[in-house]
Amino acid sequence: MATSTHTVTNQPPPLVAYDVFTADRALAEAVERHLDPAVRAVARRELAELGRAAGSAQAQRWAVQADTNPPVLRTHDRHGNRIDEVDFHPAWHRLLGRAVASGLTNAWGRPGGHVRRAAGFLVWSQAEAGHGCPVSMTHAAVPALRVDPEFAAEWEPRLTSGVYAQGLRPAAEKPGVLFGMGMTEKQGGSDVRAITTRAVPLAGAGEYELTGHKWFCSAPMSDAFLVLAQAPGG
Ligand SMILES: Cc1cc2nc3c(=O)[nH]c(=O)nc-3n(C[C@H](O)[C@H](O)[C@H](O)COP(=O)(O)OP(=O)(O)OC[C@H]3O[C@@H](n4cnc5c(N)ncnc54)[C@H](O)[C@@H]3O)c2cc1C
Repeated sequence: MATSTHTVTNQPPPLVAYDVFTADRALAEAVERHLDPAVRAVARRELAELGRAAGSAQAQRWAVQADTNPPVLRTHDRHGNRIDEVDFHPAWHRLLGRAVASGLTNAWGRPGGHVRRAAGFLVWSQAEAGHGCPVSMTHAAVPALRVDPEFAAEWEPRLTSGVYAQGLRPAAEKPGVLFGMGMTEKQGGSDVRAITTRAVPLAGAGEYELTGHKWFCSAPMSDAFLVLAQAPGG
């Protein structure tokens, strides 16, 4: 049986069960300042709710579980078929699900959407930072998609649906999708113009064949990827 040897008196109590948003005076004031009065009250309520969730014991537990159970790549199923699925701990999915349901991939087209998303991201990523990566990339892919209106019409509704649909299946069958990014190369990080991946146009309109070597792909379970490459026009 363990016996008590001494009393620890020099540690602060655990920071838990608090509202991450409301406790952040600078962030709360910035939201007041930058949001249109018409959406301010709703946004404040939503952000405080997310803030309480981010500061909860539950979210802290999910974070520990997600970070101490790293993703596992399953290259094949038990019958030998190649699947390349990445298995994550359920806590990872719960964190992602809450992020997506809270509008963190859905800034575009919502009144005050960018202020709400930015503040919400600052709040929720304090629960766990890693899953913020796919959330952020999904949000950030929208302007690039909009370069091709047909493509945007197909993908944007699923990307901004606020629904997290985990699992490996065709994107067309999913009510919500995540976007990853393949930009960085060994010689091209901050300086993305230094990338050497080539995009060669194919016969089909808007289709390219990509040849190159990417260096980081943090969210390989994403449903689609924004991949940066040099096309004939640059
Ligand atoms: C956890 C993690 C996940 C990532 N996930 C992805 C992903 O999913 N997809 C993807 O495409 N990439 C991803 N990246 C890569 C990321 O985008 C690059 O790391 C980033 O662009 C910086 O590039 P670099 O690492 O080559 O650093 P470098 O560009 O080589 O920078 C090195 C240092 O030089 C400084 N520096 C660079 N340029 C200048 C300048 N002009 N003037 C002054 N200082 C400068 C930088 O501040 C830095 O301190 C990820 C990185 C991390 C750490």
